[in-house]
Amino acid sequence: SSIYADVQQGPAIEVFALTQAFRDDVNTPKVNLSVGAYRTDEGQPWVLPVVRKTEVSIATDETINHEYLPVTGLDTFTRAATELVLGADSIAIKEKRAFGVQTISGTGALRVAAEFLFRQLKRNTVYYSNPTWENHHKIFADTGFTSLNSYRYWDQNKRQLDLEGMLADLDKAPAGAVIILHACAHNPTGMDPTQDQWKKIADLIERKQLFPLFDSAYQGFASGDPDLDAWAIRYFVDRGFELFVCQSFAKNFGLYCERVGNLTIVQRSGATRDPIHSQITLLIRGLYSNPPAYGARIVSKVLNTPALRQEWMDCIKGMSSRIREMRKLLREKLVELGTPGNWDHIVNQIGMFSYTGLNEKQVAVLIKEYHIYLLKTGRINMCGLNTGNIEYVAKAIHAAVT
Ligand code: PMP
Repeated sequence: SSIYADVQQGPAIEVFALTQAFRDDVNTPKVNLSVGAYRTDEGQPWVLPVVRKTEVSIATDETINHEYLPVTGLDTFTRAATELVLGADSIAIKEKRAFGVQTISGTGALRVAAEFLFRQLKRNTVYYSNPTWENHHKIFADTGFTSLNSYRYWDQNKRQLDLEGMLADLDKAPAGAVIILHACAHNPTGMDPTQDQWKKIADLIERKQLFPLFDSAYQGFASGDPDLDAWAIRYFVDRGFELFVCQSFAKNFGLYCERVGNLTIVQRSGATRDPIHSQITLLIRGLYSNPPAYGARIVSKVLNTPALRQEWMDCIKGMSSRIREMRKLLREKLVELGTPGNWDHIVNQIGMFSYTGLNEKQVAVLIKEYHIYLLKTGRINMCGLNTGNIEYVAKAIHAAVT
């Protein structure tokens, strides 16, 4: 018999399975509200015009070749990425105690971060929000973390942040535990702490000597303003925390498949920079040797060229305002229809996702009877909504709820 005979079939990954089911569904109308990618009002994927233009200029640039990048990536990219997230005038950058390494998008940043924390700092305890992006658990579990915990975050009854629960759970975390925080546009709830709430979170993390790891997958995509979306991170840095930031450029540049990411390390002093850098270099060397250049070149060129950077800012404003518009419309339509329940949370949430509050049974009705695909937790991707299908979706939600 085959040496592979005992390999067990693993469970499907829900988002990808739903997208496949959507593709296979021959009924119309049908709507895909599952996968996390931007769509235009025509329901199409969008290549940012500034990205397309930059791709063309890179493709025809005779000075660019396909030699390997350094293990920790393209220097002009990592510097621009670190400045984007911490702010060009960040005290940590000025004092040379922050630096970035290029990673395989946000997932790769998280994995390299987890590996470093596990191997070098001997951490094995991590806390992530309940709910969270499901890959947080997997990344840290696969790395070898043995104490995988969640902290309360979402109050399903009130459909808002459960700050008290969050603080109570983090209060029980042992010193040194890694605390994953969503920098903005929390996935899947769309509910972020207010600035005042962030201060309380920072107080507790400081008092309990926990390690903050910011997952920043939506900078600029949430509010349309990259500075505003980085507020929490910069607040922590200004307070003097040592921390990690895992950045993804999948959403804010629409570069999903190009795997552009950065891991920013903020230290108390620049004295630890070289040892950390050398250990991360060795880690990456053993994982995949060095990162791809294509997407990093695009992001680097855009962020480092003022005119292009301005065009990019206009693009993220456009994407984030279309999403906000859809939130407003969906809530309005549900209120108009008299759908039972309060739908204010849809406009109070921010970013790509909304936790609708729909339960598993209602979700099943939407999928089976209306061919509207969403996660069984009731999470929808707001970008899947457009002026052409929002009426249909609102009526379907109404029917599923009543
Ligand atoms: N963190 C969160 C919270 C996310 O939602 C995502 C994207 N789904 C990521 C990280 C990383 O995605 P990627 O690896 O595609 O950059």
